[in-house]
Amino acid sequence: MIYKTDYHIHTFYSDGKSAPEDYIVTAVAAGLKEIGFSDHLTLFRAREPWTMDVSELGKYLGHLKSLRNSCNEIKIKTGLEVDFFPGKEKELGEFLSPLKVDYLIGSVHYMGDSTVDLGPEFYEGKDYNKIFEAYFDIVIEAVSSELFDIIGHCDLIRLFGYETDINPEPLYRKLASSMRQHNVAFEINTNGRNRPLGDFFPDKKLLHVFCDENVPVCVNSDAHINSRTAQYFDEAYDLLRDTGFTEMAVFENRRRTMVPFRSEA
Ligand SMILES: [Zn+2]
Ligand SMILES: [Zn+2]
Repeated sequence: MIYKTDYHIHTFYSDGKSAPEDYIVTAVAAGLKEIGFSDHLTLFRAREPWTMDVSELGKYLGHLKSLRNSCNEIKIKTGLEVDFFPGKEKELGEFLSPLKVDYLIGSVHYMGDSTVDLGPEFYEGKDYNKIFEAYFDIVIEAVSSELFDIIGHCDLIRLFGYETDINPEPLYRKLASSMRQHNVAFEINTNGRNRPLGDFFPDKKLLHVFCDENVPVCVNSDAHINSRTAQYFDEAYDLLRDTGFTEMAVFENRRRTMVPFRSEA
C-alpha cells in the first residue's frame, strides 16, 4: 500500500467548485490516507474571483477543524496556497505565523501585477527566456523566505507550453539546492495534465534534479472539483519511483516527516 496524500485542494472558499465534505468522500473512495485543503490566500493585491475573501479565513479554518474532529475515515489536514510577492516577506510572515495550519504551500502566480497563468496574453511580445529566468528567480526567493513548507507548481511558467532556448539545468540546480538548504518540499502537480501544458509540473528534467539533490516531494492534484481529487496519482507515483524517489513528505502542524512509498501505516 502506498501512503497517499493529496494536499493541494481548492474548495468553494476560493475558486473550487465543491465543499470540503465532497472532497473527503472522493478521497476516501480513492484510498488516500490524508487529504489537505489549500484554498488561495492572496494579500497585497485587489481581491480576485479566484482568491479567498480574507475575512472568511477564520470560518475556513474553523470548518476544517470541525471536519477533522468528526472524521475517522481519513486524516484531514489544513493548509493554504499563499501567493508570494518579493519584498513582502516580513508582512507575509507576520500574517502567516500565528495561523494554526499543518502546512503552507507557497506559489508564484504573479510577476508584478500580472498573473502568469490566467491566459497566454501575459507572454505576448515578451522574451520568454527572460520571463523563464525571472520566474525561477522569484520562486527561489519564495524558497529562501522560509515562509512555506511546499512550493506549488514550481515551474508554472511552462503552463502554455512555451520552450526556453536557454539550458535550464543551472537554474534547476540552483532551485533544488535552495529547497534542500531551506527545507522546502516540491509537489508533483497532476493538474498540469488538465491545463494547456498537458503534463505534470515539474518538468521531468527538473524532477531528476530534485531527486539528485534529495528534495522532499508530495503528490498533489490541485483539484478545483471533487472528482479530480487524486487524479492521475498512480501514474505520478510510478513516475516518482522510476525517477528514484523512495519516500514522500507528510506534514502536521508545520513539521515534516518522510514516509516510504510502501508503508503499512
Ligand atoms: Zn496555484
Ligand atoms: Zn492551487
